[in-house]
Formats: sequence, C-alpha cells, structure tokens
Amino acid sequence: MTDKPKVVVSKCLGFCECRYNGITIQNDFVDKLGKFVEYITVCPEVGIGLGIPRKPIRLVEENDQIELYQPETKNIYTKKMKDFTDDFLNDLEDVDGFLLKGRSPSCGIKDVKIYRGKNNSIVSGKGAGIFADEVLKRYDELAIEEEGRLTNFKIREHFLAHLYTMNRFKDVENEKSLKLLVDFHSKNKYLIMAHNPELLKVLGRIVANHEKLDTEEIVEKYKENLGKAMKILPKETNYINTLMHIFGYFSDELSSQEKKFSLDLLDKYRNESIPLSVPLNVFRTYAIKYNEEYLLDQTIWSTYPEALMDLKDSGK
Ligand code: SF4
Repeated sequence: MTDKPKVVVSKCLGFCECRYNGITIQNDFVDKLGKFVEYITVCPEVGIGLGIPRKPIRLVEENDQIELYQPETKNIYTKKMKDFTDDFLNDLEDVDGFLLKGRSPSCGIKDVKIYRGKNNSIVSGKGAGIFADEVLKRYDELAIEEEGRLTNFKIREHFLAHLYTMNRFKDVENEKSLKLLVDFHSKNKYLIMAHNPELLKVLGRIVANHEKLDTEEIVEKYKENLGKAMKILPKETNYINTLMHIFGYFSDELSSQEKKFSLDLLDKYRNESIPLSVPLNVFRTYAIKYNEEYLLDQTIWSTYPEALMDLKDSGK
C-alpha cells in the first residue's frame, strides 16, 4: 500500500510568517490537502539567509542572464539561490509533487515578472522563479502547481489526479515488478486515455516490452511517459471519447430511454452545462448494476480522496 503523497510546499502558505513583509498566506486548499498528504515545507529565501522581514528581491535580465536581485542593497543572490536549490533538491527523496507560491521570484512557476536590467522598472517578460525553475527541470513528470491557480476547479482536479496517479505508481517503482506494472496499466487505462490517448498507446507498448528491456528500464520509461500523459490538462473531447468506450461495456443492456439519457448527459457535459462527475457517476452506476468488474477496478471513477472534492471555483 502506497504511503500518503509527499508534497513540497512553500512555507509562507500558512506554515510560517516568512514572506518579505513578515506575513503568512492562509490558503484553504493547502490546509485541506494537509490532512491527506505529507508536507515538506521550504522557504528558499530564508534558506539563503535573508531575514524576515526583508527588502523585496526580483528577477532581472542582465547580459542575457536571469539574476535574483535586491534593488535596495544592490545584492545579487542568484548563485546562493541556485546552490540552496541544488542542496535542497539533492536531499529530497520520494517526492510526489510541489505546491508553490505564485509570482515569487524564488517559488513562482510561471508569470513571475522579469525586469529589464537592474536599474529598470520595465518588465521585459515573465518566467519561473529561480527555485521553481530547477524544480520544473528536475521533476518534469510530477504535479507542480501554484496556490493561486488551484482556485480554478479544473486545474485543481488535474493537479490532484496527477499527484495521486504518480503516488499510486510508487508501488510499481519500489517493487520493480512487471506484474504490478501490468496491473497498474490495466486499472489506470481509462484515466490515462482521458488525459492522453496517444500516450496510452505508448505506455501499452512499453508494458508489452517488445524491445526486451530489463524491468528497471521498463518501469523508468513507463514513469516518464505516465508523467507526460498526466501533465497536460485533459480535454473534454478526450473524456467524452473515453466515456464512450466505457459506455460500450453495458450499452447493449440498456433500454432505449437509458441510452438516450446517457448520451444526452455526454452532450450536456460537452456543452459545459453539467460537470464531469455527473456522467461519470451515472456510468459507474451502470458498471455496478451490470457487474463489469474490469470497469469497477478503474481509477477514473475516483482518482483522489473524495473529501478533497470541492466544486467551488473562483473562475480565475
Ligand atoms: S514565496 Fe517562497 S521564498 Fe517567498 S516567502 Fe514564500 S516560501 Fe519563502
């Protein structure tokens, strides 16, 4: 049985008053998730020795290099931050995901302002903070998000599905067992199909192992492609195609009224008038009614703990 997911989280998200202005940021989702995961907290700016409170730092572009700069003191902290990041990430074991503070020149994963030079207040572009940039490079296959984006229901669902899928894969990774890999692939088939049908085929070929690779290589290759498959926000059309595959298991058993009702639900989901959970739960009910064991074992029905389900969406 896999342990709780391990998530690296920015310390200022409710764990410590360590922001540059000495405050912390309370976040409901971070609090709620904390009951289901093991958090590993980090504040890279405090980690490099900056005090609380401290003068703000920013990303600046100088001679085609991105530097971490403190205008007030004219200090450059790029090397210190890169060294801290390397040390911290080198010591990390078994992590499943990252939940970082957005817009920070250290922790933000995108949309962090980059200023045109040290003495310039013009923003020349946007990118990732120094700590986050290295996280994105090293943990390409994992769920990595900012707290602000997780107010959006779809992004939150996707983050959780990605996080928990990679966490479930740990059993296969730790045991390096082909039997567990085949079982994992079978149970996650429709979830992966809904995320990325092309990569589902690639994963199927990896499991079939026509190249006769050894188990360790197969598991590694599978993990890399699983991460790629789960990384992109799934399209509605992919979910509808997947639900049509599932529908095929019991459609012959349904009355014409039940069939029409089911297909109408898919249309309503396509038109965004109902959430995915509605057709998903109706189809699951049919899988239970007709005792479709293969379907009932699928992770697509509930990819993460139900208590984390929250239909509220700020619309951001
Ligand atoms: S955003 Fe990152 S570096 Fe800044 S205070 Fe929060 S944890 Fe520390």
